[in-house]
Amino acid sequence: MNSKAIITSALPYANGEIHVGHVASTYLPADVTTRFLKQKGVETYYICASDDFGTPILIQSEKEGKTPEEYVEYWNKRDSEDFAAFDIEFDFFYKTSSPENRKFVQDVFRKLEQAGHIYEKEIIQFYCNNDKKFLPDRYVVGTCPYCKAEEQYSDLCEKCGRVPEEIENPHCSICGETPVKEKTKHYFFKLKNFSDKLSEYLNGNQNLQKDVKKYVQNWIKEGLVDWDITRDISWGVPVPIDGVSEKVFYGWFDNHLAYISSAIKFLNDNGKDGKTFWNESDIYHFIGKDIVYHHYLFLPAMRLGIGEEYKLPDYIPTRGHLTLQAKKISKSRNWYIGLKDFLQLFPADYLRFYLVSINPYSQDDLNFDWDEFATKINSELIGNFGNLINRALGFTVKAFDGVVPGPEELDEMDKESEKKIKELVLDVGKLMEQNHLDRALKKILQFSAHFNQYFQHKEPWKKGPGTNSCVYLSVNAVRSLAVAIYPFLPKSSQKIWTQLGIDGDVSAQRFDEISNIVIKQGHKLGKVSPLFEKVEESVIEEQKKKLETGI
Ligand SMILES: [Zn+2]
Ligand SMILES: [Zn+2]
Repeated sequence: MNSKAIITSALPYANGEIHVGHVASTYLPADVTTRFLKQKGVETYYICASDDFGTPILIQSEKEGKTPEEYVEYWNKRDSEDFAAFDIEFDFFYKTSSPENRKFVQDVFRKLEQAGHIYEKEIIQFYCNNDKKFLPDRYVVGTCPYCKAEEQYSDLCEKCGRVPEEIENPHCSICGETPVKEKTKHYFFKLKNFSDKLSEYLNGNQNLQKDVKKYVQNWIKEGLVDWDITRDISWGVPVPIDGVSEKVFYGWFDNHLAYISSAIKFLNDNGKDGKTFWNESDIYHFIGKDIVYHHYLFLPAMRLGIGEEYKLPDYIPTRGHLTLQAKKISKSRNWYIGLKDFLQLFPADYLRFYLVSINPYSQDDLNFDWDEFATKINSELIGNFGNLINRALGFTVKAFDGVVPGPEELDEMDKESEKKIKELVLDVGKLMEQNHLDRALKKILQFSAHFNQYFQHKEPWKKGPGTNSCVYLSVNAVRSLAVAIYPFLPKSSQKIWTQLGIDGDVSAQRFDEISNIVIKQGHKLGKVSPLFEKVEESVIEEQKKKLETGI
């Protein structure tokens, strides 16, 4: 394990609120991983930024009578607040429209141009005579030339994940009319130049998911298409060429560069040499599967194109999309749950627990189901995990006035339980390092289930022989759990810590100390109370109805 890491997650587009689908595949796994690496003593920074440029933002800001700057500032702040409420703890949340990123993007462009990776080409661009504007990207919808899926954006087929060279049966997504074609000059990035180097990178990096690599390698075999990296609009990073005006970079040219420019700014501001730190770190980019093309091909190609001044990603954890009640999430059809709304109903830890538990380290889609949410919270989080904590600590308070007794001679069952504590650090740690966060969480739950059974079997309330050992080991198991659960449920973890009567922040505890028996005879617990409240069926029914009826 490297001693330094930089973590990023796909940038939120500054054009609407964060919903549960956004956090499931990127922000939450990235946050859990960041917290884990910090516990491991890795110097880790979680960097994110709002994605501020592009036509949709320009049009929406005009509609609302704001400048695009004002518009994105609002969403940057709102996103930042929503993430904080969900305990997504960025070390730095910046923006693609920052002066640092604008400058960095232009520098990268110049370097790519000098290295011969950029060319200018007159292209025919769709133009809507009705709306009087060029129609880049998602302003044209049509049939994907590869898989024939209908109603796909001209810059991304959501069905097969590819970027169409030219969409079939095009129409304007604003007014529905068939657009005409007009001539305009654009700049292109020679992605084709990088086929061999990209193959080499993919083959040589064993940390990337095999199944994702496989289809990316197929795309390379089929032949890569050069990227049109400019747009005829006013809102974006200007193309730094004399005489060129009203031409900006395409969002996918500038946004991922903000991973680097934001990290460098943060690191430099904190007394480090940002570039050196970047190149000495493990680099993680957490993404959803819809942007595989951009992160496995385009992003590494651009870094290769400027001479690998900034190292390529070591990990690109890629996860599937969240559906809601088995249907595709859609803001326009009002089929989504805003993060802010959710957090008014339930604590952040409930959603964190549920989303991690249903989210494998794979591209399989996952489904948010209200009934399943209630079951998981009530039976697993409360019935198993919360129950053990309340039981072990509550009993110690009741029977021993909160003072932990020392162990007697351990019998077979005690020894087995002690062994579970000793093994927890390896069991959970290995899975966390492999990005299998759902399985790591499951291990933690198996651990608490074991101690529930142990406690039940030992019947310490009968005050028979072995009572003291049972209480001693169970309280220590609770301490192990508090540290192990921290990356997943930071708030609850701290509550357990306080109830255990241990001073300070649980976040400062090293992960590798999970398996130590730290709490000794005579330790006094803090004030003990139930950690969680049951999810009521009536609330769930209300939410289901609200989703169906929109009221
Ligand atoms: Zn397609
Ligand atoms: Zn139109």
